Amino acid sequence: MSVIPSIVEKSIIRFDVDQVRKDFPVLFQEVYGKPLVYFDNAATSQKPQVVIDSLKKYYSEYNANIHRGVHFLSQKASQAYDDVREKVSGFINAKSEREIVFVSGTTEGINLVASSYGRKNFSPGDEVLISTMEHHSNIVPWQMICEERGAILKVIPISDSGEILMEEYKKLLNSKTKFVSIVHTSNSLGTVNPVKEIIQLAHEYKIPVLVDAAQAVLHEQVDVQDLNCDFLCFSAHKMLGPTGIGVLFGKINLLESMPPYKGGGEMISSVSFEKTTYNEVPFKFEAGTPNIADVISFGVAIDYLLTSDRKAIAEYEQKLLSYAIKSLSDIEGIRFIGTAKKRTSLVSFVIDGVNALDVGMSLDTQGIAVRTGHHCTEPVMDRMKVPGTIRDSFAFYNTMNEIDKLKEGLIKAIRLLKK
Ligand code: PLP
Repeated sequence: MSVIPSIVEKSIIRFDVDQVRKDFPVLFQEVYGKPLVYFDNAATSQKPQVVIDSLKKYYSEYNANIHRGVHFLSQKASQAYDDVREKVSGFINAKSEREIVFVSGTTEGINLVASSYGRKNFSPGDEVLISTMEHHSNIVPWQMICEERGAILKVIPISDSGEILMEEYKKLLNSKTKFVSIVHTSNSLGTVNPVKEIIQLAHEYKIPVLVDAAQAVLHEQVDVQDLNCDFLCFSAHKMLGPTGIGVLFGKINLLESMPPYKGGGEMISSVSFEKTTYNEVPFKFEAGTPNIADVISFGVAIDYLLTSDRKAIAEYEQKLLSYAIKSLSDIEGIRFIGTAKKRTSLVSFVIDGVNALDVGMSLDTQGIAVRTGHHCTEPVMDRMKVPGTIRDSFAFYNTMNEIDKLKEGLIKAIRLLKK
């Protein structure tokens, strides 16, 4: 039996934002004497009370190291930890829980694949494809391994609206291409990419594809079998869970063919000074004591989402997006950066004559948390010819009323800054 607290009774089947907000204690506070408006969800989402409680429960009731102890606490913690691997597997519809590797987050997942798969499979002159709209964590690991292996990093261009130029992508695919790594949903433009089609095209050349799903998993159901991706990464903290834990999904034959990434305890089958043999997948990639507490509360975050009406949530978030675009469009001098047809619930923009950082700081004094700058996507900013943007990213616990406050806040900020 699972020891993870059940939240099934807290289901939000019929979506009611006022009810849902009550699950997120952080939202009920004042910042500089103003009610907090939290629009930095793409950086990290807030956590429901059940997730917070599960951390306390683990540390106060059954903290123990896992898979090594015969005692009661160790077995209870091991069971709770192992249950989450199965839960994650179901959440993304993997074929088996053996395809789920726990990592510290999206960044570590991509680094693992770049180092392990790349070191084994890339040779001088090989090509690796990414797009212009990648987060730095889906650029730098590939630059590093390409430099080491003498491979060449190629970049798929994007349009002015922030969409992948599919014809250009097709032209870049060839027999030298050894890997494609692509973002599902852009954190700075909001674009939702046609990943299924991108994967299909790569597979025609037998090229494996990694999907960076960091910004997708909170907002839509991601199905790895439907996408037919070879690898997929995401972070718990962007989907209601704790920081420090994330997932690398990999097709079992690929994971089995890859060498370990880190050495240490747990990842071995036997060790002697003459020869060490490795544990089976996924443990081969999980050296050392894992992040037990955060894995367990990640499981609770998944339960929370699974017992929600995700379709209703997605529709509501799209309404927030349309409402924000419509109402902010009235602001004089505003220019949206990222106007793709298919977008997640975030807006990114610049305003003529004012600096994005100054606007962010002014909004902060009004209790409104937004993100400003390049959002770890400097090449996107170069492509769009802006130094940075103001990004408001919405989650299902945000309201239209908060968007009204944002609009008022922006007008006030512009007035002050233009004085
Ligand atoms: N990829 C995308 C699209 C992101 O938005 C982020 C974080 O903002 C990352 C990767 C990196 O995620 P993490 O810092 O959790 O590893």
